[in-house]
Amino acid sequence: MRQFVCPHCGAANRAPDEKDPREAKCGRCAKVLFAAQPIEVDASELRRHRASTKGAAVLVDVWAPWCGPCRAMAPQFSAAAGKLEPDVRLLKLNSEAEPQAASELGVSGIPALLLFKDGQAVARTAGLMSTDQIVAWTRQALAQAQAKAKMGD
Ligand code: ZN
Repeated sequence: MRQFVCPHCGAANRAPDEKDPREAKCGRCAKVLFAAQPIEVDASELRRHRASTKGAAVLVDVWAPWCGPCRAMAPQFSAAAGKLEPDVRLLKLNSEAEPQAASELGVSGIPALLLFKDGQAVARTAGLMSTDQIVAWTRQALAQAQAKAKMGD
């Protein structure tokens, strides 16, 4: 059983393993849980996704409107959503609008990507990346996190 946060109303939705969450609708507002695109979040929405996304990862793009490389990466990050959902929920945090949240994440240089699994930070990177690089980096980081978790068992 996995769990995802509705991008529209914030409700936590449980998704049975045998059903594709990309075809699931929110139990509260009846809108789709995934639309093959990143979700713009504020600090509290980010906390909610981190805390209530279960059995899937959360990838956050920390960006700012004044940052040229961030704007250049935006379409690359959007395209990555179509390749990584529903295993990974892609979020965007505007560090100009949410400076405290960005600093709590320990972000200094942007664009920055932070990957969370079960609420815990498992990897981070910074700098302009292509769609393929984002997808490859994310999959590799998740595989490493899984291998590490197995060793700890
Ligand atoms: Zn909803």
